[in-house]
Amino acid sequence: MAAIAFDEATNVVDGNVERVMARLFAVETPLPAAKPELKALAAALVRDERPGDWAQALMDLGATVCRPKSPLCDRCPLASACAGLATGAPETYPRKTAKAARPHRHGVAYILTRGDEVGLMRRPPKGLLGGMLGLPTSDWRDAPWSDAEALAQAPAQADWRSAGEVEHVFTHFSLTLRLLRADGEAEGVIWTARRDLDALPSVFLKAARAGLSNLL
Ligand code: SF4
Repeated sequence: MAAIAFDEATNVVDGNVERVMARLFAVETPLPAAKPELKALAAALVRDERPGDWAQALMDLGATVCRPKSPLCDRCPLASACAGLATGAPETYPRKTAKAARPHRHGVAYILTRGDEVGLMRRPPKGLLGGMLGLPTSDWRDAPWSDAEALAQAPAQADWRSAGEVEHVFTHFSLTLRLLRADGEAEGVIWTARRDLDALPSVFLKAARAGLSNLL
């Protein structure tokens, strides 16, 4: 009966209760894996008499005293029993799972020029930047590209020269784009005046600007 009443109450603001439990018992399991453990600890503390009041008090404590960043431990009625406070750093609970490192990929962007124009290609309709105009590129993969691999994916036979590289961060990965530049012709490119490149997606604008300004 008591646990049911507690569950009904804590379903509303269980973040406050989780925080109090994690600190009170110095729970080292990080969120979100710790959620069942924290809920069980909270349920075990519920009194049979007036369980709703107990749950409400715990939520109020979490909202007003055991605050996320700066808990007011000197005003807390649980201070003498709080294992988190005893560690000297109660604000570091609940522990959180470290964010996975953003994967890093490597690609090659080809800056093909014809006078004042730059050769662009429309990207495939599906996938990142789908359907947008961009510089011709290799695939984007985990490993860097060797010279031979980079030349093999070039959109045209030309005297490709290194023109530096740029870094770009997308939401789900970061990218190093190695830049190769050449004068020449290629099938399927859309010749675009340099002054019109500002409409490109930022990764390609960055690559074009860098590649066009770097000396061959
Ligand atoms: S003593 Fe501090 S950390 Fe522990 S429950 Fe109270 S406010 Fe939270």
